Amino acid sequence: MAGSPRVGVLALQGDVREHLRVLTSLGADAVPVRRPEELASVSGLVIPGGESSVIDKLARSFGMQAPVRAAIAEGMPMYGTCAGLILLADRLTDAIAGQETFGGLDVTVQRNAFGTQADSFEVDLDVPTVSPTPVHAAFIRAPLVIDTGEGVEVLARLADGRIVAVRQGTLFGTAFHPEVTGESGFHALFLDAVRAG
Ligand code: GLN
Repeated sequence: MAGSPRVGVLALQGDVREHLRVLTSLGADAVPVRRPEELASVSGLVIPGGESSVIDKLARSFGMQAPVRAAIAEGMPMYGTCAGLILLADRLTDAIAGQETFGGLDVTVQRNAFGTQADSFEVDLDVPTVSPTPVHAAFIRAPLVIDTGEGVEVLARLADGRIVAVRQGTLFGTAFHPEVTGESGFHALFLDAVRAG
């Protein structure tokens, strides 16, 4: 267990396979999670990129919103990329009507902060906590963290200072997708938190 923790990827919509691949390559026992019983069987959860409003709706209709919120409240480590970051945010701007989040991260996140799909881009980021060399990051209809509460640590910024990666306790969020550029440092950090738990 210490070496190969069982972790889940919330598998309602989004780039689930890419996350399972990275987690498995790091030695985790990674499984898709769609139901409360499956969530109860893991000690950490990744919330993938995709479309946050769709994941939100499916989470509510699959009866997953309350169990995920309860797991966050109990301190289960979680890592959200892009739509996953949106779902972990306590506050949103530019949400669709009625959109809800799991919450947990004391941040305000702006959805689609860079515009449409056509405004997607890749960039190298300095993330000292994660890697001594630059992290190659893909931003796909990406959000931005526009406000952080006191307990929130900023892990990465764009060159202009805008916040794109945060940590609060055992919750991690990135506006970009390390899982699509072969970067495993954030997943490793998340797995460290799972192993420590
Ligand atoms: N724009 C999407 C949303 O609001 C997120 C995009 C992504 O996860 N790549 O959910």
